[in-house]
Amino acid sequence: MKSAVANPPNSPTMQTAITVTRSACREDFVLRTIFVNHQYVAEADAKISVFDRGFLFADAVYEITSVMEGKLVDFDGHLARLKLSLGELDMGLPLNREQLLDVHRQLVERNRIKEGLVYMQITRGAAERDFAFPPPDTPQTIVAFTQKKDLIDNPAAEKGIKIVTLADLRWGRCDIKTVQLLCASLGKMEAKNHGADDAWLVAEGYVTEGTSNNAYIVKSDGVIVTRNLSHRILSGITRNAVLKCAEHLKMKVEQRPFTVDEAKGALEAFCTSATTFVLPIVEIDGEKVGSGMPGPVARKLREIYISESLGSAI
Ligand code: PLP
Repeated sequence: MKSAVANPPNSPTMQTAITVTRSACREDFVLRTIFVNHQYVAEADAKISVFDRGFLFADAVYEITSVMEGKLVDFDGHLARLKLSLGELDMGLPLNREQLLDVHRQLVERNRIKEGLVYMQITRGAAERDFAFPPPDTPQTIVAFTQKKDLIDNPAAEKGIKIVTLADLRWGRCDIKTVQLLCASLGKMEAKNHGADDAWLVAEGYVTEGTSNNAYIVKSDGVIVTRNLSHRILSGITRNAVLKCAEHLKMKVEQRPFTVDEAKGALEAFCTSATTFVLPIVEIDGEKVGSGMPGPVARKLREIYISESLGSAI
């Protein structure tokens, strides 16, 4: 009370503080609209319960859909995977396709996203903390927001990225896109501490995938190798699209595990994800891959993937 009297909201001191805070993060904090539990609200008003199971147990799944020219890339692919992830965790989809598409489009429009992404997360909802699930009629929490990002003009695509290899310490159901991302976050930090950009994860001597992307190498005979789908990796929506591009280009693909040594001796290496598309990898654990420059296969696949995605985005 004392400070409120000494410093009432309309006093010049308070006004300055408010003005500085608002202008410092005007674009993201004041103007961005968030979808929270069926309402569109300003970011500052977007709130969920501390009892939300997404917060307490990582009992939640998510999807990230990229936006190019104001349109959604492979919306139906992401929706299909969202349903699979929810189903594996015994959760339903709280909105139908048309409603979810509308939420994505509204956010893109309200937040004036020409290029960037829509993040959507669905949790089992808020309930008294208990490992056992709450009753099935507990309302699920649904949250979605946008981020602006230059996806096509990405300097990393021109230069290529450096990666390190790390033990894959994740759980046994990496095919479910849950929000348990601590391992990925620690991996990215370890890569950063080694002067690299990202990490590939290795289990039982074989590369599984990147911290937030799928992993590929190109062998000296031109064959592209990427790990086969299983519980060990996420079935990337971009992976699926890029493999189709490779097929159209008559490139040979083998879906099987590969070792770090095989990757280091490859002509090229690259990774794929919804927001990075195809990114060439030019260094693994401090050793150059091929010439140490982005290679023609990754370049071609990136180019074709972008043009196909622009054509089919909705
Ligand atoms: N693998 C992991 C572990 C990921 O987190 C991601 C994306 O977040 C991917 C692969 C690539 O999936 P997508 O192409 O659907 O973005």
